[in-house]
Amino acid sequence: MIDDRDRDLDDGDLGLDERAPPGGARTVPVRPGLPRSRYDWSRAELGQLLADEPGYRVDQVWEGLHHHGTEPEAWSNLPMALRARLAAELTPALEPAAESVSDDGQTVKWLWTLADGRQIESVLMRYPDRATVCVSSQAGCAMACSFCATGQAGFDRHLSVGEMVEQVVRARTRAAADGQRLSNVVFMGMGEPFANFDRTWTAVERMHGDLGLSARHLTLSTVGVVPGIRRLAEAAIPVNLAVSLHLANDAERDALVPINRRYPLAVLAEACHDYVEATHRRLSFEWALIDGTNDTDRHATELADYARPLRAHVNLIALNPTAGYAVRGTPPAGVRAFADRLATLGVNATVRRTRGTDIDAACGQLRASRTPPTDIALPGPSLMP
Ligand code: SF4
Repeated sequence: MIDDRDRDLDDGDLGLDERAPPGGARTVPVRPGLPRSRYDWSRAELGQLLADEPGYRVDQVWEGLHHHGTEPEAWSNLPMALRARLAAELTPALEPAAESVSDDGQTVKWLWTLADGRQIESVLMRYPDRATVCVSSQAGCAMACSFCATGQAGFDRHLSVGEMVEQVVRARTRAAADGQRLSNVVFMGMGEPFANFDRTWTAVERMHGDLGLSARHLTLSTVGVVPGIRRLAEAAIPVNLAVSLHLANDAERDALVPINRRYPLAVLAEACHDYVEATHRRLSFEWALIDGTNDTDRHATELADYARPLRAHVNLIALNPTAGYAVRGTPPAGVRAFADRLATLGVNATVRRTRGTDIDAACGQLRASRTPPTDIALPGPSLMP
């Protein structure tokens, strides 16, 4: 039985030793040995690639990639020979391995195979007024949250900028085919975005500046990597911050969310406070309700005491059921009672509907269901709005 919940996380696990120089170039290297995929190219690099072409070709290619999101062969404003060359040079990062659509057709989940054979997931969630894609920032995750399929399967590697941006472009194309505009991106798929901060942030800049997504509709989520929150507070694009809290006392959170041992709740609260002061953005706490684990009146009181001084909004969702994990999500009546209790205690809370339980839509579940059985427990969370 592999169980790394009790080990301490070091900086290598967290990716905190990969910080780029401040104000550095927006070219963040892909992992050595991996091919550079089409959205890994920066404008400057495309300029070098197209040095033998007129200068405006870079703009045309950039627009083809980001505005149209189509294959190079479809860029009819370019000569045929150049299109063929670009098709060979600008290879996609994501190879579809599986796709699941929920019974109501509103949720689509993809399992992608990357160039090195790693697999990641992304989920498109459609609502009457918006379409949101939940993207992965790492293949696997080192955070080892005990209720999470991805965490239990361990860490493979950080995703590149291009691997993150392409998840959004693919989801945008799918939403558009159904007549809907992709409006929101949440980094709540596989991985801890702040453990891969530089690439994640460059991907955010691309989504904001080149894919045209509003900062208000971009949400970075963390399980509590405090240095990442502090860096986000200094960042130029005012995206939303969601902290996956799940417990508001250190003793229990240490066991469920091991990063809490590194950054306990008081340290996390201080960073959240400073983030809100610096950005004036609303902070939200994600709380996956787990039957008998974090859904009692006492837990609601602890959460309220923690959230109120930070004026944080709370998003509640019942943990997605997962084969291989003994604990289940809080039943609907318990979810309502928890939300009512928070309201009584002066905390704003929204109950999120679990999306796509019929398609393994929680992070890590689809990959787990397609992985040959191992002796690793494979529970899974559902933190997605
Ligand atoms: S819940 Fe998120 S941070 Fe925790 S192990 Fe799973 S993917 Fe990583």
